[in-house]
Amino acid sequence: MTDLSSLPLRESLRGQSPYGAPQLDVPYMLNTNENTHPVPPQVAEAITARVATVAGGLNRYPDREFTALRERLAVYLGHGITPDQVWAGNGSNEVLQQILQAFAGPGRTLLSFLPSYSMYPLLAAGTDTAFVDGGRAPDHTLSADHAAEQVRRHRPHVVFLASPNNPTGTALGLETIEAVYAAQARNEAEGGHGAMVVVDEAYAEFALEGTASALTLLPGRERLIVTRTMSKAFALAGARLGYLAADPAVTDALRLVRLPYHLSAITQATAIAALEHVDALLETVEDIKAQRDRIVDTLRRLGLSPSVSDSNFVFFGRLRDAHAVWEALLTRGVLVRDVGIPEHLRVTAGTQDETTAFLDALGEVLREDPAAVVRG
Ligand SMILES: *Cc1c(COP(=O)(O)O)cnc(C)c1O
Repeated sequence: MTDLSSLPLRESLRGQSPYGAPQLDVPYMLNTNENTHPVPPQVAEAITARVATVAGGLNRYPDREFTALRERLAVYLGHGITPDQVWAGNGSNEVLQQILQAFAGPGRTLLSFLPSYSMYPLLAAGTDTAFVDGGRAPDHTLSADHAAEQVRRHRPHVVFLASPNNPTGTALGLETIEAVYAAQARNEAEGGHGAMVVVDEAYAEFALEGTASALTLLPGRERLIVTRTMSKAFALAGARLGYLAADPAVTDALRLVRLPYHLSAITQATAIAALEHVDALLETVEDIKAQRDRIVDTLRRLGLSPSVSDSNFVFFGRLRDAHAVWEALLTRGVLVRDVGIPEHLRVTAGTQDETTAFLDALGEVLREDPAAVVRG
């Protein structure tokens, strides 16, 4: 056996760490933003029945164009989106990777704004794309002016905007997306190149009232891509299904890089069955939003500073030693996420019981050490 450092690994992967949120076996797993509610029994049965109908035909490759699934995804998205504007992959991570394979790669640049989803730099490294961090304001917000200025300065080929952002949980105003789009158009008009602008809406279903989706911006913007996933609100992280809406030419581009038959017949059957039961699947969303709002209120009362959350998780600051609090919570059976930002932790809004367990454990930890909270 040899070790990694002695293998002829590509330069861009040397020294990198793989994506690695801890998968620990503890009573309360609130660290990866899954929907912690199980799939409702009637939906699990519908999935089983549909998978059973395709099992006998698994000797053949699946529908390469996943036509029936794209039709259903288009209906679910609404906003007049047609099936030829829809594309899907094994999780939105695969879709994001395909976007970089088609539009980025060696000699090209991906611009994003950290702190954001930890996979973005890894997807760049995996496709030999240069990654540029445009940065955020000290309170982690991203203004239209700042984002547009970074696009003008760095002239990227692809821009990733998470809305709501992970780990902070706050959605972007549409004016920021419009400004980024306009800035890449100006880059091109000046004789350079434009950029594909990707809005990652993995948590769109949890948005606060009045938060608009970037889907509303698609008409007339053929470089805009909006990605979604079934991993969060749909409670189907284990099924691996992510998708996007964009101009039909974008799906043509992605056909050039996708692996043959990348979406298995089992995945297609599972996703179609899920989309036939959207109402039952999304029933937990309102409850999760209520738990999220409860977390925000309680953390404020504890003297902490939770960010506005359009998602199923809450990012909060003012912890003198965030990692010590992370460990103290783990001792009490509650696993949250230490995203490596000083004074901050991120917690997923789970069921009512899980949320209570987290809030009780945190209350206890902070009572035991009153100096744990930085007074603002
Ligand atoms: C969880 C998450 C995803 C989802 O990834 P899948 O591959 O669809 O499971 C995408 N983007 C962000 C920002 C996320 O937090």
